[in-house]
This record gives sequence, structure tokens and C-alpha cells, in this order.
Amino acid sequence: MNAGKTDYYKILGIGKNASQKDIKNTYRKLARKHHPDANPNDKAAEDRFKEISEAYEVLGDSKKKSEYDRRDDYINRGPNMGGGRAGGAHDFFTDDAASGFNFEDLFQGRSAPQAPAKGDDLYYTLTLGFKEAITGTTKQIRINRRATCKTCHGTGAKAGTSQTRCTTCGGRGVIAQDQGFFSFSKPCPTCGGEGVMVKEHCPACQGAGTLSEDKVVTVNIPAGIHDGGKLKYRRLGQAGHRGAPSGDLFIIIQVDKHPLFRRKRNDILLNLPLSFTEAALGATIKVPTIDGRVSLKIPKATQAGQILRIKGRGAQKTRGTGVGDMLVTVQVEVPSEISPSERELLVRLADQSKEDPRKDIEALAAKP
Ligand SMILES: [Zn+2]
Ligand SMILES: [Zn+2]
Repeated sequence: MNAGKTDYYKILGIGKNASQKDIKNTYRKLARKHHPDANPNDKAAEDRFKEISEAYEVLGDSKKKSEYDRRDDYINRGPNMGGGRAGGAHDFFTDDAASGFNFEDLFQGRSAPQAPAKGDDLYYTLTLGFKEAITGTTKQIRINRRATCKTCHGTGAKAGTSQTRCTTCGGRGVIAQDQGFFSFSKPCPTCGGEGVMVKEHCPACQGAGTLSEDKVVTVNIPAGIHDGGKLKYRRLGQAGHRGAPSGDLFIIIQVDKHPLFRRKRNDILLNLPLSFTEAALGATIKVPTIDGRVSLKIPKATQAGQILRIKGRGAQKTRGTGVGDMLVTVQVEVPSEISPSERELLVRLADQSKEDPRKDIEALAAKP
């Protein structure tokens, strides 16, 4: 068990010798299970999902994994480890006075065993009109985030002041936390895992290391984006603790319904009303699409419910290249009001009509 940082192996429930393929498979399984879409309004699942993603971001990348493993070794070996106290890495900092371990070094990030806590991700729901999602657009959104204080670069300390040992964790940087059957060690919330506190606060941020910031973000929305699609803006989430990297900003796309068009994957669906005569005789009809009207040839004897395809008038594919189609479903309208002369014509038509629309129905009904 490695104190002083999150155990990514434990989070994914895998051993150190797991292959990249195993790591990927395990991650996928866990991510599916804990994905916010599958667990709406479940904060615990959301936290778990973030934890899993963070672990995978490191372990799923061979280079980052080996860096992480190296640091792990460092913690386990540590300078002046043991020092007569039991408990392994937890006690790494306890004998610093005797061993001459320097808190200043730690604070300045030289050989710090604690990975700085990356800031939280931000989520923003952006609603688009149906057509905007198909054509793509640019939107400006205003977000409020915690940004790293530029005066102290996130340390929270007044320039030239020194630090003291954190009283919450006694300088260890971690505290124990029980979670169900397991006990994890988590970074100390007071000092953020550094084991030190500042004596004199930075006047700009009052020691927080971060400041509230209103920011306008220009969001480029790619053509064809789907309802529920996500866009990631790196490092535009909350500032990390004490100058650590910021989290990311995720923009979750919500697409409004349209009164006429609907969408199925990359195809756009349209119900097209035709008169009885247009359907029977055939016609050329102007059909609205997302970008203007096109002529659609209705073949003679087109049936209600028949689907006619207009190639390339759908949405841009977001995976791979190409464009979907427009699928036109024919609706045959029966006139609601008819004039006496129309009536006369229809009666004549009925008399002359040879086709029986129910010719098969009795035979079908008789089937066991
Ligand atoms: Zn500051
Ligand atoms: Zn602390």
C-alpha cells in the first residue's frame, strides 16, 4: 500500500503486471458500469467514474505508467525509511527532524513524493437547436472557475515567507479514510498533501492559491454532433491545488427537438404528406431539408408508409467521413372536405376501380 498518493492499481483492481490490454479491458468494463449516463444523479458513481478515468489516464499510457511505477518505488524505498516506526510509507515523513528531511525541498516540488492534486473537472450543458447540431456552429459560453492565483502561482504564500508543518496530518500529507471494506489514504485536505502550511498568506488570494474567474470560452461545435455528445477543453476546469494542473472542462451537448425533422444516427427523418392523387399518379415535390429545398420524384403508385431516400441530405458523420441521408416517410392524406364535382369524380373512380384493397385479408384471417 502506497501512502502519499492515490493507488491507481487498487482503483482499477488490477495487479502491477497487468498488460496494457488487460488494463484497457478492465477500464472499459468499469467505465461502462459507473458512467454518469448509466447512473443519472448518482454522485458516488460520478466520483467513482472520475477516479477510474484518472487511473486509466496514467496506467493506460505505458510511458506515464512507468513514471508512476518509478515514483512508487521511490516511495517504498524512500530516504531514511523506517526510522524505528512501524507502518511503512505512512511514516515516511514522521522522522523528518531526525533524518534531516527538508520540508522546503518538499514544498518546492523537488523530489516530492506526493503527486499534486489535479483540479476538478467542470461540466457545462450547452443546448443547441436541431439545425445547429447538424450544421455545426460556434458558441460563446461564460464559465466561472477557480483559476491559479498569478501572484503566488498557487502556493498561497506571501512572497518570501516560509512554511510550517501541517497540524492536520502532522506533516504526512495523507490521512486515512474508511470506504466500505477498504481503508484508503487520501491527501490531507488542509495542506493538500504537501504536509506544510503557509505562515503568511498571499494578499491576492488570502492563501487559497486560487481566485474566482469569469471566463468566456469560444466553443466550436463540429457539424453532426449528437445529443449527449461531449467536447473536452483541456485545463479549463478548476485550478489544481497549489499550482497543480487544472482539471478539464467538459461541454455536454443537448439538442432541442425540431417540429418537422427528427434524427436517427446520421439520417434525418421527415414525414411527407401526399395527396391521394400524388401518391397514385406520381409527382415531383419540393421537400424541405436542413439546407434548403430539394426536388423529390414520387413514383406512381407510392404507398403510405413507404420510405424514400434523398442521398447526402443527412448529418455529417462524427466518426469517419461521409454524410447521412434524408429518409422521407410518405403519408397519404384523405381530403377532409370535397366539393360536389370532386365527389362525382370519386364515385366514378370507385365504380371503375378494379383493385380490391382487401383481396388478401380473408385468406390471411383464416390462417390458424
Ligand atoms: Zn495568491
Ligand atoms: Zn496536512
